[in-house]
Amino acid sequence: LFAKECDFVWGADALNQLPEADLPEVAFAGRSNVGKSSLVNALTGRKTLARTSNTPGRTQQLNFFNLGNRLKLVDMPGYGYAKESKEKVEAWNHMVRRFLRGRVTMQRALVLVDSRHGLKPNDEEIMEMLDRTAVPYVVVLTKIDKVKPNELDAVRKATEAALKKHPAAFPEIHVTSSEKNIGIAELRASLATLAAE
Ligand code: GDP
Repeated sequence: LFAKECDFVWGADALNQLPEADLPEVAFAGRSNVGKSSLVNALTGRKTLARTSNTPGRTQQLNFFNLGNRLKLVDMPGYGYAKESKEKVEAWNHMVRRFLRGRVTMQRALVLVDSRHGLKPNDEEIMEMLDRTAVPYVVVLTKIDKVKPNELDAVRKATEAALKKHPAAFPEIHVTSSEKNIGIAELRASLATLAAE
């Protein structure tokens, strides 16, 4: 599934620009700078198209990646950028909620959380949105090369405890480093189970 270069399908600025819902899909959510583009790139072997940047809030599109015509990854815009206006936050929430609710092919969401910071209030908000839209989701702790083993253990336990309040969350979490290629193969294997024949 991940062996070949994937195709970048489409970037949608608005819900009337979505590509056809013709394959199982996995959505990626997370605060700006959590390492979302890096993770999509690490999973797919791409170097460029999921653009990494240090400019928070820059990717405002829903970006779709086609993996061998069997699965699509959907990179959703990052949230929680401190300087964002209330209107933009509202617009983001509205678009994502409507997208997730209406997307019949959406199989799973990955909620990325920086292992240095743990869950923040806006992560809780997206998880509540996913609970309400009944999209099953998994938390992925990112950048684990940046924390000590005991810190990782603590953030992992705290996150798993917090997930008990969330009906659509899987109890187990993934831990990854895109930089050091940790946990990437395991995450690929779990996503591969969602792919079409
Ligand atoms: P996005 O805004 O969520 O798409 O985040 P990016 O993928 O652009 O990453 C934000 C910053 O974190 C960049 O400087 C990346 O190089 C860095 N980064 C991403 N993943 C990792 C990781 O696994 N380890 C480390 N040390 N840095 C990472």
